Amino acid sequence: MNFLEERIMKDGVVKPGNVLKVDSFLNHQMDISLMEEIGKEFKRRFADKNITKVMTIEASGIGIAAFAAKEFGVPMVFAKKSKSINIAGDVYVAEVESFTHQNKNQVVVSKQFLGPDDHLLIIDDFLANGCALLGLISIADAAGATVEGLGIVIEKGFQFGGRVIRNLGYQLESLAIVDAMDPETGSITFREQADSVR
Ligand code: 5GP
Repeated sequence: MNFLEERIMKDGVVKPGNVLKVDSFLNHQMDISLMEEIGKEFKRRFADKNITKVMTIEASGIGIAAFAAKEFGVPMVFAKKSKSINIAGDVYVAEVESFTHQNKNQVVVSKQFLGPDDHLLIIDDFLANGCALLGLISIADAAGATVEGLGIVIEKGFQFGGRVIRNLGYQLESLAIVDAMDPETGSITFREQADSVR
């Protein structure tokens, strides 16, 4: 088991509706030493890529992406949830359906902060059905930026997002992949990953 899987086993709580709660170390209270390790592991996995910017989506991706950006020595930009219906022409827009809140949000990134010269590492906390990542990829495409790879802290391998993103040909690295979880017993099963740091 890697450092993250161990922490999920210790402090993760399986909820009904395919939701894994990791509020004590990732999504509400954050364990900063763990965040540093996560940032280093993303750097290790994408060491051969010439990343110019890390991109994520608010809110829960921000802390993680910040630690990854620090390792690469590049800025981090996050897509903001936007309430305004009439979006001005100076932003890239995507519509993202929220898995946890079951609503749709328009998310925007200013054209000031993303362009054709950017080589992006896209980061998020969880991967479920892939809506958040697909929204971020569409923003990158609209900007003419290159998506060098995508890094996820916890992928739920029993949902289809991982397959969709890998089938599109992207390098997707998930630090932990949950293949099964049971809200009744609280059991969590991880996928074996060859290149995992212990
Ligand atoms: P997707 O867009 O891939 O369907 O879902 C990913 C997004 O939904 C992530 O940004 C994450 O915030 C949220 N999410 C999806 N599944 C879970 C989960 O099991 N636990 C938590 N805490 N967030 C989740």
